[in-house]
Amino acid sequence: MVRARFNAVLLENARRAGARLIERRVRLTRLDGGDRVRLDEDSLQAASDCWEGEGPDLIVDATGRANLVGRALDIPMQPGPRRDVALFAHVDETELVDPGYVHNDRIDRGWCWRIPLPGRVSLGLVVPREYADGHGDSPDAQYDRLLRADPVLRRLAPKARRLTPVLRFDNYQSLSSRLVGENWVMLGDSAGFVDPVFSSGLLVAMKGAYQLAQALGEGVPLARYEQAVKAHLRAWFEIVGYYYDGRLMTSIERGREMADGLAGRLLLPWVSRRIAAIVIGAATTDRFNLGLLRFLVDARFGLYGRDPGKYRIH
Ligand SMILES: Cc1cc2nc3c(=O)[nH]c(=O)nc-3n(C[C@H](O)[C@H](O)[C@H](O)COP(=O)(O)OP(=O)(O)OC[C@H]3O[C@@H](n4cnc5c(N)ncnc54)[C@H](O)[C@@H]3O)c2cc1C
Repeated sequence: MVRARFNAVLLENARRAGARLIERRVRLTRLDGGDRVRLDEDSLQAASDCWEGEGPDLIVDATGRANLVGRALDIPMQPGPRRDVALFAHVDETELVDPGYVHNDRIDRGWCWRIPLPGRVSLGLVVPREYADGHGDSPDAQYDRLLRADPVLRRLAPKARRLTPVLRFDNYQSLSSRLVGENWVMLGDSAGFVDPVFSSGLLVAMKGAYQLAQALGEGVPLARYEQAVKAHLRAWFEIVGYYYDGRLMTSIERGREMADGLAGRLLLPWVSRRIAAIVIGAATTDRFNLGLLRFLVDARFGLYGRDPGKYRIH
């Protein structure tokens, strides 16, 4: 679904559930040098009939990469292991195996996604920063040159015409060291973001929203919400790591080769369901599933004798 339509559905449902929208760009400041934050005066005025007293009891920071609370309180963001940049735009056409699916491919350095949208394709490149910088001075120049320079992209998008300016995201892998404070809580990307590869961003944000609503509704300490979100993000960091180091694809290849044997016929459907439940986000933090994945990608067990180098993302 196109993001704007998805956002409209969310907003409509929030309104139906009783939420009021006061549309404005807010600022946050630290209160008295402590762990509390305060909305700017104009925002407090604009929403003054929403609460009794001076201001809201709790501020939920869902401002994405703007991370307002983290910036106001100088909360460190722990960077992830990769230092890639994402360059993305919409183009008119690319090769598509099946227009109903998101496509991911390895390229010379890094990988690319192709997401079919009505009348266009979202084409994104995730490459090491120095590699992008070596292809031009602006995101547009880097993207356009990479499309022409990379042999895989030349095959996948030989006639692609860019329809939008290129967006570039740097340093997107991050995890806030704290998610909860005296009168604030972080949600979605403001709490952390792993990587675009398995499209986990919206899942983490949406699941976090449910967990936060549930914790607030039931009066559960928010520390438990923080633990759950951090566990979710860490699980994705681990899974994404197996994608980049080539072990995940090597293990899938191994599974395919076993498919016709007796052990494969008996075990593969069960294993596939468990691993699929991790990757689609249905049971990403399930201990048993994660244990099974670790076994499958372990050089001594699942990968026995296999070199994952073939599928490593450079
Ligand atoms: C390159 C890339 C590709 C991605 N691809 C996918 C994908 O295919 N699938 C997927 O699920 N996820 C994807 N993601 C991740 C996804 O976009 C995010 O995880 C998701 O948007 C997080 O939602 P959010 O609500 O936390 O933040 P956002 O979607 O960033 O929303 C934050 C909102 O806060 C508002 N805001 C910011 N500052 C202020 C302020 N001062 N006052 C008022 N409002 C403010 C912004 O305007 C915005 O509306 C991708 C991310 C990247 C970097």
